[in-house]
Amino acid sequence: MTNATPLVNMIRDVRHSLRHLKQNGCTGFDCSSETLKTLAQLGMSTFNGPAGKETLADIRADLGDCTRCPLCHSRTHIVFGEGNPNAGLVFVGEGPGFDEDQSGHPFVGAAGQLLTKIIEAMNLSREMVYISNIVKCRPPGNRNPESGEIRHCLPFLKRQLATIRPRVVCALGKVAAQALLETDTPISRLRGQFHEALGIPVMPTFHPAYLLRNPEKKRDVWSDVQQIMKMLEHA
Ligand code: URA
Repeated sequence: MTNATPLVNMIRDVRHSLRHLKQNGCTGFDCSSETLKTLAQLGMSTFNGPAGKETLADIRADLGDCTRCPLCHSRTHIVFGEGNPNAGLVFVGEGPGFDEDQSGHPFVGAAGQLLTKIIEAMNLSREMVYISNIVKCRPPGNRNPESGEIRHCLPFLKRQLATIRPRVVCALGKVAAQALLETDTPISRLRGQFHEALGIPVMPTFHPAYLLRNPEKKRDVWSDVQQIMKMLEHA
């Protein structure tokens, strides 16, 4: 009988190092064609390689100049999402506001500036994480997205998450948390503990726009964010 423990330990150490590199923005490695063949034979994803799953660009192309729901009539830009395609952490908001609709980028207005501060307080940067929304077009007057709009748009976010496979998703606010977790439970009861969507741990927390109106809730968000940091450290 052979002793498999050293091999198991080595695989665990390699996996740990690769996760660490991924969390710090490493987007992949060049592989020899022999290695790509071996990975393909093992049924392993090689990201953009021959056995790879769909890419974010594939999903964006499929979304196209979307007219699946009425939000298309009032939008200026589709806000697909942006950041590290191999992020360990993905933030999901509700939907684009005025500034995001104008620019095509998520979380660039006042709430976005606060989100950037939260990310930096985690010793991360916007480039290291991925940021997206439940709906990709601005609901008129910043109203909450309606269930039909979410139903059309959410599959694209789910495909983005399935492609990125982050270690953690942070759902910002009630709309994001309830849509991802398929629940009506209030955000005040969801936040502060990990839930799960698509097999990925999801930490709901208050939306940065809510924090701008209720700064006393920053303490709760910081506590949620610290749990996320612990989860990423131990990944
Ligand atoms: N609020 C959101 O939920 N998403 C954005 O992209 C901007 C503001």
